[in-house]
Amino acid sequence: MSALKIHVRGIVQGVGFRPFVYRIATRYGLKGFVKNLGDAGVEIVVEGEAHAINCFLKALENESPPLADIHDLDIVKIPPQGFEEFVIEQSEKGSGAGKSIIPPDVSICDNCIKELFDPTNPRYMYPFIVCTDCGPRFSIIADLPYDRENTTMAEFEMCDFCRSEYEDPHNRRYHAEPVCCEKCGPRYTLYDSDGVAMSKDPIKKAAQLIDEGYIVAIKGVGGIHLACDATNDLAVKRLRKLLKRPQQPFAVMVRDINTVQSIAYLSEYESEELQSYRKPIVLLRKKKSALSEYVAPGLHTVGIMLPYAGVHLLLFHYSKTDAYVMTSANMPGLPMIIDNETALSELKDIADFLLLHNRKILNRVDDSVVRFVDNKRAVIRRSRGFVPLPLPFPSNSRYLAVGAELMNSFSITKQGFIYPSQYIGNTTHIETVEFMKSALKHFQRLMKLDRFDAVVSDLHPNYNTTKFAEEFEGEVIKVQHHFAHIASVMLEKSVPEAIGIAMDGVGYGLDGAVWGGEILALGEGLAKRLAHIDYFPLPGGDLSAYYPIRSLIGLLSRYKREDEIMEFIKKNVDDYTHSLPRGQPELEIAIMQVVRELNAPLSSSTGRVLDAVAALTGAAFERTYEGEPAMKLESLASGACESPIFDIPVKDGRIEFYSILDELAELPPHKAALSAHLSLAESFSNLAIETADALSIKNVVLNGGVAYNEIISSHIRKKVESAGLNFYVSSEIPRGDNGLSVGQAYLLALYHSGSVKIKDIGEVVK
Ligand code: ZN
Ligand code: FE
Repeated sequence: MSALKIHVRGIVQGVGFRPFVYRIATRYGLKGFVKNLGDAGVEIVVEGEAHAINCFLKALENESPPLADIHDLDIVKIPPQGFEEFVIEQSEKGSGAGKSIIPPDVSICDNCIKELFDPTNPRYMYPFIVCTDCGPRFSIIADLPYDRENTTMAEFEMCDFCRSEYEDPHNRRYHAEPVCCEKCGPRYTLYDSDGVAMSKDPIKKAAQLIDEGYIVAIKGVGGIHLACDATNDLAVKRLRKLLKRPQQPFAVMVRDINTVQSIAYLSEYESEELQSYRKPIVLLRKKKSALSEYVAPGLHTVGIMLPYAGVHLLLFHYSKTDAYVMTSANMPGLPMIIDNETALSELKDIADFLLLHNRKILNRVDDSVVRFVDNKRAVIRRSRGFVPLPLPFPSNSRYLAVGAELMNSFSITKQGFIYPSQYIGNTTHIETVEFMKSALKHFQRLMKLDRFDAVVSDLHPNYNTTKFAEEFEGEVIKVQHHFAHIASVMLEKSVPEAIGIAMDGVGYGLDGAVWGGEILALGEGLAKRLAHIDYFPLPGGDLSAYYPIRSLIGLLSRYKREDEIMEFIKKNVDDYTHSLPRGQPELEIAIMQVVRELNAPLSSSTGRVLDAVAALTGAAFERTYEGEPAMKLESLASGACESPIFDIPVKDGRIEFYSILDELAELPPHKAALSAHLSLAESFSNLAIETADALSIKNVVLNGGVAYNEIISSHIRKKVESAGLNFYVSSEIPRGDNGLSVGQAYLLALYHSGSVKIKDIGEVVK
């Protein structure tokens, strides 16, 4: 007779771990108990024959539930206490300092889908059906341990039937905290735009209304969506108009994987990702289909996801259409709406009807977005299904990294792990900063972290996040944006030193200029800017981000006189009179600004270079959403099968992109678009290879928003690999600013370990 006490850390609460432990313990005739700990870990005590205990330990490691992820096991021998049976004990509150954490929200599982549509099942057609393998987690948890009383299910008292399943160790709902049924659980109600409840059959009615062309708000797992028939031009156009989003692509939810195949090209990887338990939006290459052209205007890709909650499956069950627009219900730049009162008041002029349920959403989680670039997964928005999963971090310190400005997220580190937050969004808006603060509080509560050892922000003096970081007591540092981009890939891929290619929108540089096209070196005792796109002025400063022709003017001013710039534009930009809101007079002012150096900050941004080419080729004259000109330029380029690569001169590490503009202007638009992509990729990879050789570094990493670009990313990978070097891009952490906080935290760790000097990467605030 022997006995063990086992402390399990990792993702072990809310994933059916205790029932699993119960099953394997009883299988081997062991006695003892299992319980959730307040630190999100699990404690097991088993006693019995030594051989049986060994079998138990093997099963613990090899058979654990699909959503569980054991990070480590702490096993100690203890004297047997003579237990009579094996039980699941009451959870312990405590405030352990562990590193375990709750799982993310998981899409409805196959077993539950079967029951949902089985007329003999007590939960037939009940949208909140869940089991230990599926359902909401992160979005409904208020505190740890993960027990029903600490979730938003607390206010729904289990009926006898649900309780009997919840308490039966052989049932697949044994201790599934959100378990409920029609009798005892949350319900949907359909409201009209005046907030009047209607229809006894809310989901069926909502489906009919969507089929008829109405816009319906739908409350789901992590927030509220606006939905309409994605094959109905009028409905989609109307939604665009009401949301004041003329161009921004809408995500589409489709009936099933066969429907996906009918509207987009699908690789094996993409198909797997679409059907994974995360069920993210996957950007796919469009086919000609019944989908309205207004869903993703001017783009060769469309974002598609599969139904991930009971309500979605029921809607499609009742619906004739196979595809819904499913876009987050929010005002431009503001966080997604999650509560019923706000939805009823804020959406009354947009949604014709609202399908809402009466369970609270505690933590907002947007749909995650991924794209396969060069056959590798690139996460664009890391939220539902991912958060709060951690990644290993090479320090035990407790850091907070606050991110940058747009597409923001923050990250927390603790005991060898880093936890990136859910998608926070555009922090220029005060409402979004408030969301960030409350999300941070929540993370701190779940992780029992009341203070940080150090805080890190972007170097930009005016970001709201920078100001937020400065309010913390204790050590605060700022780090340069593109060093952080490079650091985030190095952390994810465990690369100790690398040449970094940062191709990005904009980030505040160490010299105060607007960086964004950089070759950097980072490693032990090494943090250096080696090369960059030759500076060009951005007439009108921030305004240039919204009107791509301003970037073109800036580039032209590097080698043309005032009158020559106008001549070039007139000759080569069709429709140039519409390239700025106030036409030619505004063009003349912009040209005057660069020539006289008035409000024309210097930039090395790759994003702005691509904007300039977007204007030159007519791909886009306006940015109505983040990344629009570059995305449309890529779509235009993808229509060309080949085009020349021009040699961009490099002087003293400065990439003189402007010197190929005359050659680009000679080509038809789609070829010019492709040549610009390839020429940029060619010159960045050549420089990276040269500098890697010079510094004897074997690794090249690519990051920043442009790393989502298929043409540029795959060209650089091929060049770098054929030079015998290792090439890395992120597949877990977002490559754009949504992943920046991870790199910031890593830079902070490198600074603390003495690997880099702060003056090379940023500055100390206090
Ligand atoms: Zn299930
Ligand atoms: Fe960036």
